[in-house]
Amino acid sequence: MIIQLNNTITKADYAKVEKVLAENKFSVTEVKTQFDRYLVCIGKKEIDIRSLGHLAGVKDVHIVSDNYQLVSRKWKTEYTKIHLGDGIIIGGKTPVVMAGPCSIESEEQVVKVAQHLHKNNIKIMRGGVYKPRSSPYAFRGTGIEGLKMMYSICKPYGIKIITEVMQESQIKEMLPYVDIFQVGARNSQNFNLLDALGEVDKPVMIKRGLSGTIEELLFSAEYIFSKGNERLLLCERGIRTFETAYRNTFDINALQVLKDKTHLPVIADPSHGVGVRSYVPKLTLSSLMSGCDGVIYEVHEKPEESFSDGQQTLNFLESEELIKKINTVLQIL
Ligand code: PEP
Ligand code: MN
Repeated sequence: MIIQLNNTITKADYAKVEKVLAENKFSVTEVKTQFDRYLVCIGKKEIDIRSLGHLAGVKDVHIVSDNYQLVSRKWKTEYTKIHLGDGIIIGGKTPVVMAGPCSIESEEQVVKVAQHLHKNNIKIMRGGVYKPRSSPYAFRGTGIEGLKMMYSICKPYGIKIITEVMQESQIKEMLPYVDIFQVGARNSQNFNLLDALGEVDKPVMIKRGLSGTIEELLFSAEYIFSKGNERLLLCERGIRTFETAYRNTFDINALQVLKDKTHLPVIADPSHGVGVRSYVPKLTLSSLMSGCDGVIYEVHEKPEESFSDGQQTLNFLESEELIKKINTVLQIL
């Protein structure tokens, strides 16, 4: 059960609400986000919500039958919109496109990608500076200096930045240069990191874990929301299955299922989802047809020279062709 409180609730009224909940043996977590104040109440007992709804300071009471609560679609009539500034909205009527290299490598590389995005009216650049790599000997990113460089190049173009944060200690120094923090698949259940991102007033995109279920992804989002940050996006990026013909099994089903289960925007990442360049464009278009709120894909001037994930990265020509098709799909939608 979720109780929405008025932000102006008095201490005395709050105590009355607490008393009713204690009498009914609910365990209560208080959540204060950028926008609202909630009590998440977990308990076995049935309760007549009218006994709470009329109390002073209570805005609304919602019974949520899902195990996760705040991210559930059951209590929120409208889908969540994430405002990034400059009129860029995720979760609105028009799906968004985010694109960029797997890794931020050099100034020249980022300038070329920024020009490519700008030319094609793409407003959000992806690019990792802290790279989770299977091998410790692989390229692990250019770190905070790479992010500052990315920011200085993107800013004049009005391009927003989404980049991965791998650990709590990185958050503070990354904060001024980031528009969306990405939690990577390998950190999808790093609960300390999720807790810490709950205290940040920047949107967070959480990727599905390598073998993560849809419910686990929703619980990861619940971690961040329950710590105070409700500006969240979820990303389907493929899961590990018995299939070896491609890198991951892109679970296109998850896009519609997530739209049913949560009010949060849902993003598709076909690049990691399939891991094979030639399959990325059609999966991107299929994702949009499946009703997601946006797509994120990897693009590089010379994918074959890319420091990471070149095999799944589009070149500028392929990206440009894809964008034209995306625009056609958006018109159909
Ligand atoms: C990435 O976005 O480059 C990345 C490492 O993604 P994932 O966490 O989905 O593997
Ligand atoms: Mn990548």
